[in-house]
Amino acid sequence: MNDRTRHLKFSFNFPGRRLTVRWLLPIFLILLFLTTLLWLPWQAQRMESNERQEQLIADTLWVEQAIRFQLGSDEESLRQIASEVASGYLSGPRLRERLTTLMRNNRELSRIVRQDADGNILASTDDAPSARLDLSARSSDAAQHARQTRAPQYSQPAPTPPPNGPMQMDFHVPLYNGEHYIGSLVASYQMGNILDQMVPWWFAQDNEISLSGDDDTIIVRRAAGGLGRGVYTHSHLMELPGATLTLHTNSIKSAPKLLPNLLVGSVVVLSLGLLWSLWALWRDINRRLAAEGALRQQVSFRIAMENSLLTGLRARDLDGRITYVNPAFCQMVGTPAEQLIGKLPPMPYWAPEAMYEYRERFAKVLAGTVTPQFETIFQRANGERFPVLIFESPLVDDSGKHTGWMGSILDISDRKRVEDLNRQQQEKLQASARLASMGEIASTLAHELNQPLAAISSYTSGALNILNGEAMQSGQVDPGILRSALENANAQAQRAGQIIRSVHAFVKKREPIRESVRIQSLIEGVIPLIEMQAHQFFVGIQLDIEPGLPPVNADRMLLEQVLFNLTRNAVEAMQTVAPERRILRVQATLDKTSGATARVVVAVIDCGPGIPREIAERLFSPFFSTKAEGMGMGLNICRTTIEFHGGTLTHAANPAGGTIFTFSLPVAVESEGSTDASTRPY
Ligand code: ADP
Repeated sequence: MNDRTRHLKFSFNFPGRRLTVRWLLPIFLILLFLTTLLWLPWQAQRMESNERQEQLIADTLWVEQAIRFQLGSDEESLRQIASEVASGYLSGPRLRERLTTLMRNNRELSRIVRQDADGNILASTDDAPSARLDLSARSSDAAQHARQTRAPQYSQPAPTPPPNGPMQMDFHVPLYNGEHYIGSLVASYQMGNILDQMVPWWFAQDNEISLSGDDDTIIVRRAAGGLGRGVYTHSHLMELPGATLTLHTNSIKSAPKLLPNLLVGSVVVLSLGLLWSLWALWRDINRRLAAEGALRQQVSFRIAMENSLLTGLRARDLDGRITYVNPAFCQMVGTPAEQLIGKLPPMPYWAPEAMYEYRERFAKVLAGTVTPQFETIFQRANGERFPVLIFESPLVDDSGKHTGWMGSILDISDRKRVEDLNRQQQEKLQASARLASMGEIASTLAHELNQPLAAISSYTSGALNILNGEAMQSGQVDPGILRSALENANAQAQRAGQIIRSVHAFVKKREPIRESVRIQSLIEGVIPLIEMQAHQFFVGIQLDIEPGLPPVNADRMLLEQVLFNLTRNAVEAMQTVAPERRILRVQATLDKTSGATARVVVAVIDCGPGIPREIAERLFSPFFSTKAEGMGMGLNICRTTIEFHGGTLTHAANPAGGTIFTFSLPVAVESEGSTDASTRPY
């Protein structure tokens, strides 16, 4: 599995982005944190609510205790009075006063009555008491029960007459004198007063308090601070002798509100902030990841490009220290990058023999000037030398600061090899062309040599005749005649030798040599050969050479070849025209108008049929010929040779009919005062 597939395997898409496994843990932790944050206020709210509920229960119990205590205290007082009444110590106005005092001190009591065994009222706290008590059915039952059990009894609360008056609860204390029932004390409680008097105000302020009877109907209610909300409630059973009451408390407080809660608010704000920052972080990281990915791609693309480059790259800082080399360069010089980076001159790839050249160029680099392009020699680690072409340019950073130099280095061994091969082939071609010319020359040579040989033959035969003749025998030979014949024969032999030498020199294969060549001597040197051709086809030759022409820097023999080819083509072209028009003109002039350097212009002018356009287009193509035995290489070689010398070869129609081939060559720079060393005789 490669890196990419592994990466994909552990990732999935989430809102359009790739959520990788590295996000899962932080997200899980953040969710946990948020859950805890949200759970905390909820828990706090619950605790607060429980606390309030418990507080309410405790308060309710406390209130119940307070009511019980107060009722018990009343009970105690009434029992005390009852025992005094039963023993006969207390009656009449004194009893009434005791009862009134008791009632004044305990405001929950609404009335206390002493009645006899028949139910007649003997004393009462009422100002205008009726004769008998108008008791509710439940109160009568309680009275009956008290009498029977001889124990005080509470009645279940009931409305007082008239129907549905305030709810009232009676406390019956039976009076016995020994075994004899002598009546009872009846203390009445207004239920509303119980709550008003016995429940502390602070509790009533926060809670709705109510009492219900045995049938669960609310008997009385106190809601000083408002109605209860039903959130925190408690009910407590109050068992009294003969009566069962239930105390209900209902807090007016509502459940703790969530949002106003500071904790909840801050948690929400914090959570939102956290989510936002998480989102921002995620977005930022995603952007960075995208940028990093693009960067990585760019880097790997550049590295791949760099590695596949065949051109060596080398960067140097302003001190000339190597700061970077690419693999192609390392391979070229056969030294690893680690051994090159940080190196100051002399470099390991400098060839000792070219050290002076390197140092000179390096001094220029330090001075801030570089040669933008130059050729030199480098040395591989194994000592092998190879030619390189170097392009050097300043290295400028992002802020436009010049930080060093960047060089691209091309190993031009192959190119040089191809150039050499081309040159060799060219030379071979030229040699072949020369040999081809040789074939033609050979026939004319025979013809040319015929004349001097015939002359030599006749001179020598003449001389022999003289020596064998009568004059010799008679001793009257004129040595002057003999000498003249031999001298003529010698001259003819010289001429024949010159012809042969010129042919030999022409055909001889050799390396090109650049030298200072005067066009005049060049033309004169090749004229004997041209003449041989011209004689064959009865062509006249006119030379028109501007006197004092400066020399050109050229290979004499190659230029001779060009001149010979052009004149030979011209002579051949004129075969078909009338003999009187067969004039070959060779002109040489100086052209100072064509640019900075003056040029020597040589024109070979014929009066042949001219060159048709379709032929003109292919004239310089190799192996193009209109001649039955032509090789078609002459003009091609001529142009290559002229261009090799920095010149041009063109052709134009001769206004007088025929063609003008013109080549121009730059005048040799050191032409001033130079002499033509190449004055080879033909
Ligand atoms: P070759 O002489 O072997 O044919 P060249 O390259 O010297 O090869 O010439 C190519 C062709 O150019 C010739 O065959 C001929 O048709 C034409 N040509 C060359 N010089 C002249 C000229 N002076 N006049 C007319 N035609 C010419």
